[in-house]
Amino acid sequence: MIKKLIRRILGKKDVSSSSASQKKSPREIHYKQHQINQGHISKNAMKVTHTLQAGGYDAFIVGGAVRDLILGIVPKDFDVATNATPEQVQALFRKSRLIGRRFQIVHVTFYGGHKPEIIEVSTFRAMINNESEHINESGRILSDNIWGTQSEDATRRDFTINAMYYNPSNQVVLDYHGGMKDIKENLIRMIGNPTQRFREDPIRMLRAVRFAAKTGFNIEKHTLEPIAELAPLIHDVPSARLFDEILKLLMSGHAWASLEALRHVGLGQGLLPMIDAIMQQDGENSFAKIALNRTDERVQLGKSISPGFLFATLLWHEVYLGWQNEMNTGKPQIPSLHDAIDQVLANQREVFAIQRRFETDMREIWSLQPRFEKRVGKMPHRLLESPRFRAGYDFLCLRNLADEVPSLLTDWWEKFQMSAPQEKEQLMISAKEETQLNPSSTLGKSRRRRRRGPKQQEMNNFSDDSQQAL
Ligand code: ATP
Ligand code: MG
Repeated sequence: MIKKLIRRILGKKDVSSSSASQKKSPREIHYKQHQINQGHISKNAMKVTHTLQAGGYDAFIVGGAVRDLILGIVPKDFDVATNATPEQVQALFRKSRLIGRRFQIVHVTFYGGHKPEIIEVSTFRAMINNESEHINESGRILSDNIWGTQSEDATRRDFTINAMYYNPSNQVVLDYHGGMKDIKENLIRMIGNPTQRFREDPIRMLRAVRFAAKTGFNIEKHTLEPIAELAPLIHDVPSARLFDEILKLLMSGHAWASLEALRHVGLGQGLLPMIDAIMQQDGENSFAKIALNRTDERVQLGKSISPGFLFATLLWHEVYLGWQNEMNTGKPQIPSLHDAIDQVLANQREVFAIQRRFETDMREIWSLQPRFEKRVGKMPHRLLESPRFRAGYDFLCLRNLADEVPSLLTDWWEKFQMSAPQEKEQLMISAKEETQLNPSSTLGKSRRRRRRGPKQQEMNNFSDDSQQAL
């Protein structure tokens, strides 16, 4: 009785009440089979597991990092799982911070590299019962801070390939749910009953799609089956979490494949108005496809991506159509654009809100677009001095690749940036003559000049700093 009370106070679940499946013993996988290269493991992640172990606790690298290591991919971040409570973890690391409410973890920060590295340390968690007060009416988990055994912790993870524990000290992987077999068979398989697990946390549907696109694996039949029907539950997820997950998906280096997979499993509808729109636009040089392919290339080359720029490209189709519609009512160009932007952002907020700072970036990039048409007087100089010039110019180049503005315009700006003051004057004079000869040039009707295939070569014009600038 007293023992039970202490466990309750400590937030521990009574292990004696665990089901047999939760006490499942793991398969031990040794180096010969998993061949994890320790050179791919962050020194800091090793430090964390060693320090915890030296403190008398169990500690393992866990989750996506183990999956990636087995696949021979260098993980981009490391999670550590331990039987130490968050307070016990904090006592061992000076630079550590308790974060999260629904899902408490400790962030241990290491300085010294070119940027600080955060190792996320989580305490083994117990499974949550359906009757529990931690679940809402649709089955979604609201809080998840009940500590449990390693076996329970494995059972509450999402996919079998994400539920393996690697101990760097003896190089053994503990596999509770056949993750190794699924890796060999290229399968994303939900642990437990897929319908129930997707109801507990609908974000898992997006995760399944992201991992499928990233690894090229298939979503296992029973895991895939309920997704189309449960898709609307995604709207129950708090907006900020949905935003984070969509951003991860778009910045995974496999954005286009992910969007195709979303549509394939029935998740595309209504998530971002643009996903539906993009998928309906056919042709190799649709604006969004060019933009996403370029994003994928950058991620794969290890270059930075600005979320503001990315979302600006994804919602541009909507903005552009709205802008044209407003202008067709006789409204001037600039107010038309601003009204269209307001409308698109308001619609987007109903689905999930894009963080304010990214919205600001998007607004700025979009608002610069008509300013690129003004190639006389003081305007070009002012535009060049704008802190968002690079981003706006890169965006213009994308529009050019999608045949939305003529090369004449992007070429002109390319030269204008590079040239000396006198040449700049000359360029403005020729732009003026050009406009007099053909007043509807630049952004006028002549922009709908269809081309076959994306202008790959011209992609090289894109700057790296437009991404960093935001
Ligand atoms: P990546 O870091 O490549 O995006 P990951 O699998 O490491 O992939 P994280 O979000 O870092 O994803 O989560 C770490 C681990 O935590 C996962 O591998 C999984 O075991 C568990 N996990 C994360 N999110 C969930 C979830 N929504 N439901 C169940 N388990 C989860
Ligand atoms: Mg991870």
